[in-house]
Amino acid sequence: MNINQSIIQYAKEISIDKIGFCRANTDLERNQLKGAQSFIVILESYNLYLTNEKSTILHGKMSKAAIFEDYHKIVNRKLELLQRFLSDGFHCNSKLYCDTSLFSDRSLAVRAGLGVIGKNTFLINEDYGTATFIGYLLTDMKLEYYDSEIRNDYCEGCSICLNACPSKAIGVDKQFHIDLCISKLTQAKEVPEELKKLMSNSLYGCDICQLACPSNHPKNKNSVKESIIEEYYDLDFLLSMNNAIFKDTIGKTAAGWKGKKTLQRNGIIALGNHDSQESVRILNKFYQDIRIDIRMEIVHSLGRIGSIEAKQVLKEKHATEKNEEVRLLIHKYL
Ligand code: SF4
Ligand code: SF4
Repeated sequence: MNINQSIIQYAKEISIDKIGFCRANTDLERNQLKGAQSFIVILESYNLYLTNEKSTILHGKMSKAAIFEDYHKIVNRKLELLQRFLSDGFHCNSKLYCDTSLFSDRSLAVRAGLGVIGKNTFLINEDYGTATFIGYLLTDMKLEYYDSEIRNDYCEGCSICLNACPSKAIGVDKQFHIDLCISKLTQAKEVPEELKKLMSNSLYGCDICQLACPSNHPKNKNSVKESIIEEYYDLDFLLSMNNAIFKDTIGKTAAGWKGKKTLQRNGIIALGNHDSQESVRILNKFYQDIRIDIRMEIVHSLGRIGSIEAKQVLKEKHATEKNEEVRLLIHKYL
């Protein structure tokens, strides 16, 4: 059995879904580790089709990638096992990476023959579609062989995700307009007012172009992970949660790094995108928040709803609000 075969066999034992090999080529890559020669790239799949099927009304939507244990932890655990296997068996030195800004994870996965990049910018793997996470080891080991890039154009003639994307982030000009992507908006520090409507009820991420892509299918054998939180998340509960509850729920998922305030802001935006008396009631209830930016977001949401009930709440808040900046904003919507 050659080195690659031994690694592949061990990868199967520790339930790595896909593994590929490529050379460390560039100076940047070689400078990260003394004697760097190769990358061992792994894919960890997840399931796009499980859902708690709740009505979306007054529930925010979490991406399927962010309802179970933070994938960085899952991928890192497997990479650490692989690292130990290589060091014990082959005296190999290696460095571990997952979702780092140093290298492009997707480009490395392509170089290691694990898929192609789709028009929606996701890596498309022939078995697991777009629903995978990428991790890799940079090693000082010369491998027996290296995988080749797959040269087919999977997306040729297809424009399903372009049509499915609600914000037209996937351009017909083959450009990806990241500033319009809902997934990025849910993570942005500030969301431009004119783009908030596009977010609909998204709390973190967006799965629309993945669910539309024919590479994904309920029959794919993607790994099913135990959920920590529900995909459709109760907005009243989200807005009332304290730090300890956040830490114990969303905080344990891949959305946790954005922090409670960003998720709550997105919840307020979601309520503002749903014109109903119930939305107005919840926004009114949480206006007592001491955080000025949260109150400002509530004002924007009530303003976007614009119903008689929403205007009535705004009038009441205008009469009692002490902060001048917030009062001015309320005035804009009256
Ligand atoms: S993640 Fe959502 S907003 Fe972003 S490109 Fe895909 S469908 Fe469009
Ligand atoms: S939906 Fe079609 S164009 Fe978009 S990524 Fe999938 S295969 Fe490519």
